[in-house]
Amino acid sequence: MSLELKKEIKIVKNVLEKNNALADRIRQILKEKKQTMFNFMSSPGAGKTALLDKLIPHLIQKGIKIGVIEGDVQTDNDAKRLQHHNIPIALINTSKFGGSCHLASNVVLGAIEELNEEEMEILFIENVGNLICPASYDTGSDFNFVLLSVTEGEDKPLKYPGIFRKTQSAIITKVDIADVVECDVNLIKNNIRQINPDSVIFETSAKKNLGIEELANFIINYHSKKYDETQ
Ligand code: MG
Ligand code: ZN
Repeated sequence: MSLELKKEIKIVKNVLEKNNALADRIRQILKEKKQTMFNFMSSPGAGKTALLDKLIPHLIQKGIKIGVIEGDVQTDNDAKRLQHHNIPIALINTSKFGGSCHLASNVVLGAIEELNEEEMEILFIENVGNLICPASYDTGSDFNFVLLSVTEGEDKPLKYPGIFRKTQSAIITKVDIADVVECDVNLIKNNIRQINPDSVIFETSAKKNLGIEELANFIINYHSKKYDETQ
């Protein structure tokens, strides 16, 4: 029994090591092409697609070329919702990879290769809706966001500390309905800071266009800084 358990742990470790090595290779590929990749993670329904839908025009307006990698267990619904921006989108249905509840770096690399002919500066990953294992799988992104909507409860950062610890920024979504659902946004912020004091916190509403421009500017600044420093 204990032997079996030991073996299992070893396998999981190998999977993660391989995933991390490939993620480093992805970052190298991105660097060579002067691209920056941002990974958006959250539970299902937190509003990743809605946020991207409002975020993308701010970047297009500034002449920045964008690509999106859409991760979903099934359907092309989210990819279709972003199609009207007329940008390259690679759809990954993880059910074809065993119904995976996260994006691993090998499938992300496949998506990047798929998008390769397109001219892109910034890539967005919409990860599979899940607050747990996406945090353990490095996608090769330069920067990781976690989204948390006001309908999910203020204590989510305390209940799922892993993803809040591993992300550099937390985006609180749907703040326009905070009062209606009796959510204390300041309490969410305090809980995030308790887990990760360095997390950059954004308060947004895709519906009311709140905080979106601020987030877009943050992304653009991060991208330009990355290549200022490496030159
Ligand atoms: Mg979505
Ligand atoms: Zn998973």
